Amino acid sequence: TGIYSSVFQLTDHLKVPTDPDLGIASFVLSQFPHPHVAESKLALIDSATNQHLTYAQLHRSIRSLAGGLYHLGVRKGDVVFLLSPNSLLYPTICLAVFSIGAILSTANPINTSSEIAKQVLDSIAKLVISAPEELHKFERIQVPTVVTSRQSKEGNSLSIEELIECGDTHEVHEIKIKQSDTAAVLYSSGTTGTSKGVILTHSNLITTARLVRWYAEETSSVNDVFLGFIPFFHIDGLVFFGYGLSCCGITTVLMQRFDFQEMLKAIQVHKVNNIAAVPPVVLGLVKNCKSNDSLSSVRRIGSGAAPLSKELSEAFRAQFPWVELRQGYGLTESCGAATVFVSDEMAKAHPGSCGSLLPTFSAKVVDMETGLALPPYKEGELWLKGPTIMKGYLGNEEATAATLDKDGWLKTGDLGYFDEDGLLYIVDRAYNHERVAPAELEALLLSHPNILDAAVIPVEDEESGQIPMAYVVKAVDSELTHEQVIQFVAAQVAPYKKVRRVEFIDVIPKSAAGKILRKQLILQTQRPILSK
Ligand code: AMP
Repeated sequence: TGIYSSVFQLTDHLKVPTDPDLGIASFVLSQFPHPHVAESKLALIDSATNQHLTYAQLHRSIRSLAGGLYHLGVRKGDVVFLLSPNSLLYPTICLAVFSIGAILSTANPINTSSEIAKQVLDSIAKLVISAPEELHKFERIQVPTVVTSRQSKEGNSLSIEELIECGDTHEVHEIKIKQSDTAAVLYSSGTTGTSKGVILTHSNLITTARLVRWYAEETSSVNDVFLGFIPFFHIDGLVFFGYGLSCCGITTVLMQRFDFQEMLKAIQVHKVNNIAAVPPVVLGLVKNCKSNDSLSSVRRIGSGAAPLSKELSEAFRAQFPWVELRQGYGLTESCGAATVFVSDEMAKAHPGSCGSLLPTFSAKVVDMETGLALPPYKEGELWLKGPTIMKGYLGNEEATAATLDKDGWLKTGDLGYFDEDGLLYIVDRAYNHERVAPAELEALLLSHPNILDAAVIPVEDEESGQIPMAYVVKAVDSELTHEQVIQFVAAQVAPYKKVRRVEFIDVIPKSAAGKILRKQLILQTQRPILSK
């Protein structure tokens, strides 16, 4: 039939209940460790300040903040907009918002005021929760604001800590939440360029919380310590660190933002054994980790959000043979991971693959010309189906109809294939029909000993239409020339894939989620041509 199904099953105690009246916050709280464990078991540690929260404190702060928000006038269905770097209070805020049936919308703190204003208006936010240093971005927006921390708060705005202190949980018990209610609206560009609000329901989130718990039970122990520097506003960070890991009884060490040296320090101090990472971090470890002892406590690194090449996986494993490196794949529209590796044997044997479908998912690989589902090893657009797939894009029926078909299949816009064992390989983005996959050339460039990082973009060429151009970060002291880079690639690829232009650069621009900001590089490259 051309439909791939998950080879895994959720264990019985994690199966989706039929009870339609269940919210994500109630579900997560019901999975917290037993009260006598919760009093001492650490849920979260802030690596910069060493401040921490036990599971019991987390539980209490969620209930109190829910009460505080309710007293402030936030009601079921109201959108609460959160703009903050990762913090100890982030999971409290997410779960408190969910527990009163309000809708969480998060954004990247580096977004500009106008990007933020657009999102606040589009989602019709009723309350803004902002880190003090981002407060100025809301000056022109007429929406009530609460700051995340009392210490540096400006003027007389209320802080989350004050809301937690005055929170009364009484009325909150009365709020009825249905699994079909909207829980979050996260902004993503999807397969077309413009940013759209991805509507995720309580049911979507509850399923992902179960999947995180299932994965943790298959692979980790409750004594594991996870490191969280990936941004919590992004779907992967939100699912894992915003609520998913809290229902596994595991301790998370969080970093407000990524910093290579701080990461190594946090690993050592807290004996971290699990890291949720993105490919640039894996690359950084391979190229910059001076002492392999730095990772001595680490057992597993997961990588997602952007392609992790076969070459980089192999280089990493050769350097850190005791660390399991596992790639996963997912998107905001699927509420995070759709594929993972459960067994390290499989991951090791299939570098470059994103793993197998998680429980509850089905997939098809569709020929973009004929619309037919393709057999193993044939490349096409990946379609996904299952209980975590978004409800649609907020206020955008056209984009929703173009992305979700009538049978509930999500067209991911990613080009890939499955092998005969059901392992997924993502080849590239599908929608622009490019014949050259930047990711493939980037992986090749990174295998050069004097290249620290690279990004490939298409540039206009009078003769050939479009040609691949590479931006390259070379190793300090290396005398690598443009011509050597061109030759290095040319010797290993088909003629049409040859890199024809090279430019050296200090750093490749990347998003907080680790994706190469190709558009920025394309614009940067066009500028001199336009100004001629
Ligand atoms: P986002 O909605 O921001 O999570 O972005 C989702 C997109 O990231 C997907 O559609 C893919 O294009 C890309 N992506 C995520 N994980 C991977 C992966 N393991 N390999 C390649 N691309 C990925």
